[in-house]
Amino acid sequence: MDSETKGTIRAFLDWRWSEVPLHPYKEDGAAPFRAITRQTLFSDPGFGCELRYFEMNAGGHSSLERHAHTHGVLILRGEGHCLLGEEVRAVKQNDLVTIPPWLWHQFRATAGAPMGFLCMVNQLRDKPQVPTGVECAEMRRNPAVAAFLDRK
Ligand code: MN
Repeated sequence: MDSETKGTIRAFLDWRWSEVPLHPYKEDGAAPFRAITRQTLFSDPGFGCELRYFEMNAGGHSSLERHAHTHGVLILRGEGHCLLGEEVRAVKQNDLVTIPPWLWHQFRATAGAPMGFLCMVNQLRDKPQVPTGVECAEMRRNPAVAAFLDRK
């Protein structure tokens, strides 16, 4: 019997799961982000989806992006803010966030502590878009969004 028929248990220790590689957030460097890592917890063609764990150091952030695919997010650790289109919302441990298609989104950890979240996503998905200069300027016309984007 191999591991696929027996099932697996990946033990949790200090925000890592055994035998799950820790990767930089994005390998292509296409979008600006800071102090964030990725672990892919579940990915199997039979699922049709992937579950990833992202962790930002204090003050870190994910990229500001949008795409056709949706996200289901569960904040597992810490607190921070997320941008959902025109809205800036505080998020904390155990909150659930859904991100529908084509909504600009970004997560930012508070300055004091790391923030980690699970993100469920389609296994086959489109590549995220990052805002153009014009789109950034448009977003920044909303003072709450500008303050969020400038948050250190
Ligand atoms: Mn995204």
